[in-house]
Amino acid sequence: MTITRFAPSPTGRLHVGNIRTALHNWMLAQKAGGQFILRIDDTDAARSKEEYVEAIRADLEWLGIEADREERQSERLDRYEAAFNSLREAGRIYPAYETQQELELKRKVLLGRGLPPIYDRGALELSDTERAQKEADGVQPHWRFKLDHDEPIQWEDGVRGIAKFDPKLLSDPVIRRADGSWLYMLPSTVDDIDMGITQVLRGEDHVSNTAVQIQMFTAMGAAVPAFAHEALLVGKEGKLSKRLGSLGCDTFREKGIEPEAILALLSRLGTSLPVEPITDRDVLLDTFDLTTFGRAPAKFDDADLDRINTAIVHGLPYDAVKHRLPEGMDEAGWHAVQPNIAIVDEVSEWWRLVTGPIEQPEFEAEDKAYLAEAVQALSWSDDPWSGLTSALKESTGRKGKALFLPLRQALTGMNHGPDMGELLPLIGEAEAKARLDRAAS
Ligand code: GLU
Repeated sequence: MTITRFAPSPTGRLHVGNIRTALHNWMLAQKAGGQFILRIDDTDAARSKEEYVEAIRADLEWLGIEADREERQSERLDRYEAAFNSLREAGRIYPAYETQQELELKRKVLLGRGLPPIYDRGALELSDTERAQKEADGVQPHWRFKLDHDEPIQWEDGVRGIAKFDPKLLSDPVIRRADGSWLYMLPSTVDDIDMGITQVLRGEDHVSNTAVQIQMFTAMGAAVPAFAHEALLVGKEGKLSKRLGSLGCDTFREKGIEPEAILALLSRLGTSLPVEPITDRDVLLDTFDLTTFGRAPAKFDDADLDRINTAIVHGLPYDAVKHRLPEGMDEAGWHAVQPNIAIVDEVSEWWRLVTGPIEQPEFEAEDKAYLAEAVQALSWSDDPWSGLTSALKESTGRKGKALFLPLRQALTGMNHGPDMGELLPLIGEAEAKARLDRAAS
């Protein structure tokens, strides 16, 4: 069974890049009839906040990305301890005593010589006496995972194809701080093993982590899941943008973007498939395929989202929006106004034209006479607008703008707006007469 996970750290709100990763993992699981796990990576007690955990859940719920279950790293610390102890016994974890400054200096020296800043394994050279001395001096070690230098790392990446790393070109990662707290690398691997994750899909900023984690899977005697790394999301100018890092569901909601628009865009952005206003999730799932993902950064443009959103709003059936419409607005009202809006909230502005009060312009004498004639010509039927305008065309010889505009202005107070043929029946006979009367006087 396919099991995927989305593993945010609750140190902030989800941004559009995280949402994309969550969506794709959910889609992978849905498509395969598998499971999707929300894993809260909250080992960093100082920076993790419960309010963010709640916001992450709420955002996913709003998007309709439902997890089959939730896991929390802070509840699994004993598992990490057990893995740590057995890897240490197996000689794959070692203590290191360098201070931040010492490490920084080593890095600078290597970079200055034009060499890659790989950790020199200085800690492995310490004798037992030297180590004992450090401990006696009160220096608490931090801990590193010892990469196997003889084992080239290779995997078939779901997006990038064959990926290869020479472990000698990687630093042994620090996995645990001197205060005993965990860094990301080992807990994530332990979780992926314990939770039976079959497929890890994440951003390409994690590619070198994957190289390290593959050795951890192997060192713990576990099968390595399938890995795929998607190209990062960039702003429309083609650069990693700060703005995208803070663009999330709150902003989308405030702008009136439908969750379906976000899903339609993010499920195909950066793929070879066309971005279309698709609201049927089955269609999105059917066509979702990692092999369509490109390696170039995916460009996120607000204008695309607005365009998709408008198209989706224009196709929303009444039943799907009725609970969000102003009181009294029925199906006919929705249909009249729907083509004129870009977001659902805009219906209120147009609906006011029906319920009133409206503000009419001051008309010239000639138009007043014309509108007085309209009061007489108005006869109620299934299609009062056609009746009214054909009668007036005939009796006054007016056509085009001269025929229609004064009527629209008198009936709605606007120069443009929804189709009058649909609006007039909603305004109703008595109110329409009253408005024409008022404009004519
Ligand atoms: N908490 C990690 C992150 O947000 C998870 C990465 C992963 O998917 O393994 O980057």
